[in-house]
Amino acid sequence: MVRRGAKRVFVQAPDGLKQFLAEFVSRLSQVCEVYVSINPCYGGCDLEDDRAAMIGADMVIHIGHKKFIEGAEKVYTVYLPAPHLADVRGLASLAASELKKRGFLRVGVLANLQHIEYVGEFVREMEAAGLVPVVDRQTGGLVLGCRTDGAKRIESEVDAFLFIGGGEFHPLGVAMDVEKEVFIADTYRNEVRGTAEIMKKTLSRRWWAIMEASKSKRFGVIMVTKPGQFSMRSAEKIAAELRAAGKEAHLLVGDDVSPERLAAFPFIESFIVTGCPRIATDTQQDPNRPVLNEAEAWKMLEIIKPDRK
Ligand code: SF4
Repeated sequence: MVRRGAKRVFVQAPDGLKQFLAEFVSRLSQVCEVYVSINPCYGGCDLEDDRAAMIGADMVIHIGHKKFIEGAEKVYTVYLPAPHLADVRGLASLAASELKKRGFLRVGVLANLQHIEYVGEFVREMEAAGLVPVVDRQTGGLVLGCRTDGAKRIESEVDAFLFIGGGEFHPLGVAMDVEKEVFIADTYRNEVRGTAEIMKKTLSRRWWAIMEASKSKRFGVIMVTKPGQFSMRSAEKIAAELRAAGKEAHLLVGDDVSPERLAAFPFIESFIVTGCPRIATDTQQDPNRPVLNEAEAWKMLEIIKPDRK
């Protein structure tokens, strides 16, 4: 940063990490003016380079995610990982013995960015337990909430998957995209658990949303304006298909797809979000009005217009 002579730096971080920024920002402030975004930041897709340009920043420091958007950013951007730091040997050995007990031999090892450094430790413990760990070569096992190719590429080689990290967000994303069972080695709770139950509930909720939406007459098709999520083409294509199926489709634009925002459109019966696919599946929305992602919208269109090519 000093080498680049940056005078104004714009800092973005997920809400969960903002509480740890005090020291970081104080030190940066000794050499430049620091502007910290108060907005939530959910991924590398959520880059605020437009806002950074507006305040004349000559650098963005984006914490906790990897580069996501294609091509160059509007303002020079540095992506700073925020790895989880702990001794995970005990958890790795617990995971190996749990998977072995369940009769699995070949296990795909996955992690999110915060935990990707632990993959080697888990691989070693699994090998020591007589299992065959498999890691996708292209991604090193890294998965995002919307990018699970690191799991799909090795699915045919494994009996099950083990995700290293916390929460259900990433492992559920994998479980929705593969046929094999996904287990979580939870580094925060220090436990190993399966995702079969939660997956069953999620799938039945999603099918309910698709079937309910198929009965709607008036749709809101939302284009999310975050740089890594914006797709005008997808939204317009879905709106055109809906209209061809005799439905009404309103094009909506914004970057906050919260229940409060959607409540302002009481005349819309169902929403389709053409941005992050997890907004529809993981946000608590109005239970009476389905919110679908793009893939689910195409499934629904097959139901209402079965002759669609
Ligand atoms: S899951 Fe959603 S928020 Fe996360 S990187 Fe993908 S598009 Fe962005």
